[in-house]
Amino acid sequence: MALISKKEVRVRIAPSPTGHMHVGLARTALFNWLFARQAEGEFLLRIEDTDIERSEKKYEDEIIQGLSWLGLNWDGEVYRQSDRREVYKKYLKKLIEENKAYYCYCAKEELEAQRQEMIAEGLVPKYNGRCRSLDKVDAKKPSVIRLKIPEIKIEFKDLIRGKVEFDVGLFGDLVIAKNLENPLYNFAVVVDDEEMKISHVIRGEDHISNTPRQILIGQALRFQMPIYAHIPLILAPDRSKLSKRSNEVSLLEYKERGYLPEAMVNFLGFLGWHPEGDDEILDLKKMVQLFDIAKIQKGGAVFNQEKLDWFNNQYLRKLSAEEIYECLKPFLKENKIESPPSFIKKVIEVLKERMKTLIEFFELADFFFNLPEYDVSLLKWKDQSLPDVKIILEKIFEAFSGVSDSEFHSKKLGEILNSLINGTPRGEVFWPLRVALSGKNASPDPLMITEVLAKIETVRRIELAIGKI
Ligand code: GLU
Repeated sequence: MALISKKEVRVRIAPSPTGHMHVGLARTALFNWLFARQAEGEFLLRIEDTDIERSEKKYEDEIIQGLSWLGLNWDGEVYRQSDRREVYKKYLKKLIEENKAYYCYCAKEELEAQRQEMIAEGLVPKYNGRCRSLDKVDAKKPSVIRLKIPEIKIEFKDLIRGKVEFDVGLFGDLVIAKNLENPLYNFAVVVDDEEMKISHVIRGEDHISNTPRQILIGQALRFQMPIYAHIPLILAPDRSKLSKRSNEVSLLEYKERGYLPEAMVNFLGFLGWHPEGDDEILDLKKMVQLFDIAKIQKGGAVFNQEKLDWFNNQYLRKLSAEEIYECLKPFLKENKIESPPSFIKKVIEVLKERMKTLIEFFELADFFFNLPEYDVSLLKWKDQSLPDVKIILEKIFEAFSGVSDSEFHSKKLGEILNSLINGTPRGEVFWPLRVALSGKNASPDPLMITEVLAKIETVRRIELAIGKI
């Protein structure tokens, strides 16, 4: 890797591939990406897969797919910690040689007994340093590697949270590796961030207590530490932590449910950050211009599903019927839609403004492709009687039947309906027609439906409604 001056901006995301790609990771990636692109720096992807039991290739693939879907391209290769064990080993050896780290042979039960003793004495429990000054290494005995922790305070400046202080004397000597081949998270991160010349570590607030530990490891290795920015957690609407287990947090789940990547990215960008001004619809390019890490809020960011739906609807509206058709094409068969593309596009045109997700199209559009099923009582507008409904539908039927195919468009049909209103409430004419055509109490304007269904089908549905009464 080319050596790059520390002054340059180089950030990374460092996900552990141990579960579905979380929306929180997507947002961390976005903030890092924005920060890098704004500074014309680099954004790296490092897979933290040292925990072989929990790491899975399918989750790594999901991260790559998720980032690509959102348009968050990374620079250079994908780094994997599992390929870098020799690097960590070199630094672990160095710390042991310099007597800054040591092998600890204390068994689990002994550590627990020490803990209990300290608690009984009214002390904050921590490792008592028993193996600190052993001068012989016993390769046969099970051991871990610990870093000597000084009794000091660590202070760092966080770009979002300001000055942060930890009394590291309370930590006790830190386990940094199971052995020379198997470093633990805090150690591997510090080595990688140094070797990859990471200038800023922008990550979730849940890592804030790791930061002093990482600073201590970095100091022991005489590394120049990165600048930190801990971004607020994403919270559920009740302000509880967004659970990892629920499907709601899997990024690709949103793709499957018909959210557009542009909407997702826009929504994620606003989770904890807001640009100056009222503009809400921002693409990545615009976000790069406006992004300001110092303006990220400290408090948790609530994941508001309605807001996401709103964003998605805004982006769907911008697409042409043709573009939406292309997105829906792969799902037509499973939804048993075999109509000609020209008809499907007309339906899209009419429904586009109402769709919150791509997939919602199939629910909203069902009545265009299949005869609607509804209860006859739905045909009544407020306290209108069924015989009255019948009379009005018969009038509409007669009038519409007399219109030629070429004149069968909303303007002409609208005129006919208006002439039928004749002093009665508008709903008494439009409502029964809406229900006859769609079987629903909420649908696009019935006149727009008539245009899509065309004369034969419109008239047939009115006739069927009359037959129900
Ligand atoms: N592997 C850590 C995680 O997935 C990365 C934390 C960091 O960015 O340092 O949360």
